[in-house]
Amino acid sequence: MIYFDNAASTKVDKSVSNEIINYLENFYANPSSTHAMGRKVRNDINCAKQKILDSINAKNCNVFFTQSATECNNIAICKLLDYNINKGKHIVCSNIEHSSITETLEHYKMIGYDISYVEANNLGIIESEKLKSSIREDTSLVIIMHVNNEVGSIQDIKTLSRIAHDNGSLFYSDTVQSIGHCNFDFADMNVDGMCISAHKIHGPKGIAALILKNKITYSPYIYGGGQQNNLISGTENSHGIIGLAKAVSLAKENLEKNIAHIFKLKEYLIDCLNKSGIHYKLNTPSYNSVANIISIRFYDISNSILVNRLDMMGICISAGSACSSGSVLPSQVIINIDDLSTAKETIRISFSKYNTHEEIDYLVDALKKIILPIQNMKR
Ligand code: PLP
Repeated sequence: MIYFDNAASTKVDKSVSNEIINYLENFYANPSSTHAMGRKVRNDINCAKQKILDSINAKNCNVFFTQSATECNNIAICKLLDYNINKGKHIVCSNIEHSSITETLEHYKMIGYDISYVEANNLGIIESEKLKSSIREDTSLVIIMHVNNEVGSIQDIKTLSRIAHDNGSLFYSDTVQSIGHCNFDFADMNVDGMCISAHKIHGPKGIAALILKNKITYSPYIYGGGQQNNLISGTENSHGIIGLAKAVSLAKENLEKNIAHIFKLKEYLIDCLNKSGIHYKLNTPSYNSVANIISIRFYDISNSILVNRLDMMGICISAGSACSSGSVLPSQVIINIDDLSTAKETIRISFSKYNTHEEIDYLVDALKKIILPIQNMKR
C-alpha cells in the first residue's frame, strides 16, 4: 500500500509509539493521585507541556489537552468569545477554514453573533487589506488558519494578527497543518490561541493540544474534578500526552531535514508529471505554500473516479480534506479560490517523511494508465 494522504493522518513514528507503550505498561497511575506513581505521572505531564511550549516558542501560555483539533477549535472559539464579550458580537473568519471552525461559527450565528468571511485570493492567501476592511469596531475575534489543509497555502499570521490586535480583537489560528511543515514561532506570530493535533505529525489519534495565552480567563468547558486548570475536567490521557510531546519535539528537531526531503519529492513529482503527457494544473501556489500538500486538477476525470481507481491500484489519496473524502461534494475551499469544475477534478496528494521517489514513480505510472486514455480520447 502506498500512502499519500498524510494531511489526513500520518503513520506513528516508532519512537513515539515506544514511549506510549512504555507509559501504558509502566506508568498507569492517575495523575491526580498523591502517591509516588501519581506524582511521577503529574510531573511527566507538566514536562510534556513545557516541551510543547518550548518547541513552538510560546511563553506565558497554557496548554490544554483535548481529543482532537476539532475539540480545540470548538473550545477556543467559545472561550475567546466569552473573554472578549465586551468588545462585541462580530467575528471575522477566512473563507477557507476547516469545518471544525465554520460549523462552530454557524452555531454562534444562530445565537446572535454576526460573522464576516474574508475571501482568500486565487492562491489561497488572505490579503491584509481585505482583512482590514472586514474588521469592525465590534469585532471581538478574528480566525485565520496558518496552513490550509487542502491547498497548503501559508498565511502571514504575524501581519494578520497585528491588524486584529490594533483593533482590540483577539486572534485565533488553526495551526494543525503547519506544525512540522514550516517555521513556527508562537511569540513571533503573536496569536492568542492555536492548536496541535498529534495524528497529523506522526503521533497517535485521540490527543491534541490547545494553546491559549494565559491572560485568557475562562469558566469551565467540561465540569467535573477540576483537571486542566478547571477548563476541561476528566483524567488526563497521560500516555497520549507523552506521545504528543514526543511527536512535537521530533517535528521541531527534524524540521529542516523533513522539509528538504519532502520538497525534493514534490519537485520530482512535478517533473515526472511534466514528462508524462498528462494534462494537469496545480492549485497549490508555488510559493507561500508547504511542500507536503499538493492540490492538483487532472482534466477530464472526476476526482471521485480517480481516487477510486488509484485505491484499486493500492494508492491512498484523497479528493480533498479527510472529512469530505467520503462524500461526493466538491471541496468548498477549491470552489472559493477557483471554481466548481476545478473542484470536481481536484485531488490532494500529501507527503510525509516516509514517502520515497520510488513511490512517486509508481503513482505517476498509475496516473498515466488511468488518465492518458481518457484525455487522449477527449482532446
Ligand atoms: N483543522 C485542520 C486545518 C485540519 O486539517 C483538521 C483535520 O484534517 C482539523 C482541524 C481537525 O483535526 P482533528 O482530526 O484532530 O480533529
